[in-house]
Amino acid sequence: IMFNNLSEKLDKALHILKGHGKITEVNVAETLKEVRRALLDADVNFKIAKDFTTRVKEKAIGENVLTTLQPGQLLVKIVKDELTELMGGEATGINLSGNPSVILMSGLQGSGKTTFSGKLANYLKTKKGKKPLLVACDIYRPAAINQLHVVGDQVGVEVYSEPENKNPVDISLKAIAYAKANGFNVVIVDTAGRLAIDEQMMDEIANVHAAIKPQETLFVVDSMTGQDAVNTAKAFNDRLNFDGVILTKLDGDTRGGAAISIKSVVDKPIKFIGTGEKMEAIDVFYPSRMADRILGMGDVVSLVERAQEQYDEEEARKIQKKIAKNEFGFDDFLAQIQQVKKMGNMKDLVGMIPGAGKALKDVEIEDDAFKHVEAIIYSMTPKERTKPSIIDMKRKTRIAKGSGRKLEEVNQLMKQFDQMSKMMKMMQGPGGKNMMKMMGG
Ligand code: GDP
Repeated sequence: IMFNNLSEKLDKALHILKGHGKITEVNVAETLKEVRRALLDADVNFKIAKDFTTRVKEKAIGENVLTTLQPGQLLVKIVKDELTELMGGEATGINLSGNPSVILMSGLQGSGKTTFSGKLANYLKTKKGKKPLLVACDIYRPAAINQLHVVGDQVGVEVYSEPENKNPVDISLKAIAYAKANGFNVVIVDTAGRLAIDEQMMDEIANVHAAIKPQETLFVVDSMTGQDAVNTAKAFNDRLNFDGVILTKLDGDTRGGAAISIKSVVDKPIKFIGTGEKMEAIDVFYPSRMADRILGMGDVVSLVERAQEQYDEEEARKIQKKIAKNEFGFDDFLAQIQQVKKMGNMKDLVGMIPGAGKALKDVEIEDDAFKHVEAIIYSMTPKERTKPSIIDMKRKTRIAKGSGRKLEEVNQLMKQFDQMSKMMKMMQGPGGKNMMKMMGG
């Protein structure tokens, strides 16, 4: 769960206030000291953390926190607003005004540049209706060119490469000409990275930058690297004056420092985040939603958006009909699971539920929470799947054996399926509307 540690510490800090009957200047100061400590532990730069708490304190005094009815809540709100501001305030899109729009990717090797190039191409293609071209400009590592081809194949986007050409400026210019001639409206140039900042690499990318004059220069950085991420960002920005930051690997055990500090150090917005190795694991960066998450308030807006993206009206109508006719079977159940899975990995989704991070912090959430259920269903015959009522003890034993799961698990799934079918039927029958209302639907 994203920024688990930081969330927990901030929650504890802000809890100091909730525990006190009366709020005084002393315990506000104590709270802010804890907030600062939490930020430092998350690898936020000392000065940024200090300025942050100073601003919160000033605001708290300005808004007369001590005299309001719910001082604790007001302080939480001030902290949230300041966090949002610190991370850039509003979400910032990318500039796609060119024809073609040229996007230059920069960053160290291993930051997730190639992976992100693929994700961005996929995002622009599926969400923005663009026709992107990926360009391989790493002239040192043939493996890097291959990797971009693999990524391009995965998302169905063409990759331009010239394995024999050792001049990245030449390759990228030719790629742009190729894009113009062939109706591509976005060109994403993936460049060579090094393990650390190195003058030759900087010169090379600066030359490409000067030659192709991209509409967008994006700097990709691994969020796990904390303060280093911030320093690298500074070095790249001094050379390239880039337009935005891409923060990758936010699905890992990231402490959060990079997300919080980077904007105020380079004064460039974070535009996207990477939350996994899959091509779909890309999100627009919304500072206020991120602040909500950091403060353990969840991110209901993103959760609902993801659900809406995956909601297929026609499919829903089909399922309703099946339920009405008592034909809802395990194949439909499986299809529903696939829908949920498309929303993202479980850890990520759970993190978006308000309060869930804290409640579930010690629970091991499997990346593929449905694996066992799927294994059981795959061990059923087609007939069993469409007509679950025929599944007797003998069949259950066979299914358990076939799927490598325990008989109890099969029983449990059958029971759950039964309950779910009954409930869905009730919601459809007379009075169903009331029941939906009762459930807040
Ligand atoms: P490059 O050298 O900058 O091009 O980095 P790559 O794109 O090759 O990525 C390096 C490694 O990080 C690969 O194993 C990727 O699968 C992995 N990776 C990239 N982005 C993410 C992300 O958002 N989350 C996770 N968990 N892994 C990522």
